[in-house]
Amino acid sequence: MDKKLKNFIFVLNCGSSSIKFAILNPDSKKTYLSGLVEYLFLPDTCITWKYLDKKYKQIIGSNINHKFALDFIIEKILLKQKDILKNIVGIGHRVVHGGIKIKKSVLIDENVLTHIQDAALFAPLHNPANLIGIKIVMEKYPILSKKNVAVFDTSFYKDMPETSFLYAIPYNFYEKYRIRRYGAHGISHNYVAREACTVLNKKFHSLNIITCHLGNGSSISGICNGVCVDTSMGFTPLEGLVMGTRSGDIDPSIIFFMHKQLNMSINEIEEVLTKKSGLLGLSGVSNDFRYFEKNYHLKKEAKRSVDIFCHRLAKYIAAYTSLMENRLDAVVFTGGIGENVPLVRKLTFSKLLLLGFKINSELNLSMIGGKSGLITEVYSRPVFVISTNEELLIAQETLNIIKT
Ligand code: ADP
Repeated sequence: MDKKLKNFIFVLNCGSSSIKFAILNPDSKKTYLSGLVEYLFLPDTCITWKYLDKKYKQIIGSNINHKFALDFIIEKILLKQKDILKNIVGIGHRVVHGGIKIKKSVLIDENVLTHIQDAALFAPLHNPANLIGIKIVMEKYPILSKKNVAVFDTSFYKDMPETSFLYAIPYNFYEKYRIRRYGAHGISHNYVAREACTVLNKKFHSLNIITCHLGNGSSISGICNGVCVDTSMGFTPLEGLVMGTRSGDIDPSIIFFMHKQLNMSINEIEEVLTKKSGLLGLSGVSNDFRYFEKNYHLKKEAKRSVDIFCHRLAKYIAAYTSLMENRLDAVVFTGGIGENVPLVRKLTFSKLLLLGFKINSELNLSMIGGKSGLITEVYSRPVFVISTNEELLIAQETLNIIKT
């Protein structure tokens, strides 16, 4: 490790069923330590981490909660790396929802904690988990750093025009209850858009781009003159594209039908639309895209699911070109599916020939496993695969805040 490097940031992304963590240097963009706890509250909660290019894996118990897992991360891993520890200048916490009050990254104090708690109304699965992480680190481990910064996914959508964020329901639902579109995945869309600026040699404020984050959750954002002007996730992450287990867009009348004709309770309907729909619901088999890639030409349920996934995605990309003012600089694919599945890129853009997109097969096939680059013909509108790095953006934001 370069001993001269300082300004390490500990990044913590405390999710509802997993915890991601990393220690990076935002100046050199180097990640020194990164890891993931999976299967919280399930049998065999597992931690994997990488330190200076060496990988480790361990089962840390069964039905493990956030607190136990965080204690493990900090006491068994972090506190042992004394050379890194003494250079940590701040901690960056990913927070999914900033609510209606917080529009940008902030140093965390009591007031901010209250706002994050209030915003849990809009992100009931995510914000409480984010808060657990923040509180444990701040209260139990001030030794790591006293400077804790919250970086919000919703910040990226703060300048979205009301033509995009309002639903066509009585205005009073917005005024009184703040029912509107908030978006999600903002940190990832922001990161890949900024990376695209470097590749395209453009300033962010003049960037016109469509970014597609395709993972287990999927969303698409339209960015015009450096401002996100629309995004597919709405009041919650349920709206928009077809996802792993979420339905994305449906006619809301289906909910009335399920309730009134099928006698399903609201909780049962919520469970179907958030946990049993999307690729899992369509195929009846899996929400893991590796299954669909392998079986696309073999099993009709796999083909059906992928075709619907790509049809919806192509429709959104086409619609979002209408948000660009006379120029579209590029489309970017990122996330587990966006970065690893050439089949999705091929099928999606085969529906968009009219808009001037033509995928180069060889480039498309080669862009997998974290590689970033162009996948279109020279005469095509450019499409890039860009590997996302939300931790790096959180670390950069954190350093900016604690420097000011
Ligand atoms: P999230 O962060 O939303 O949980 P990810 O961005 O990690 O999701 O993406 C998860 C999805 O990406 C899963 O459907 C997974 O199957 C798919 N995926 C990841 N790696 C690959 C791969 N090498 N080939 C095919 N699909 C992949």
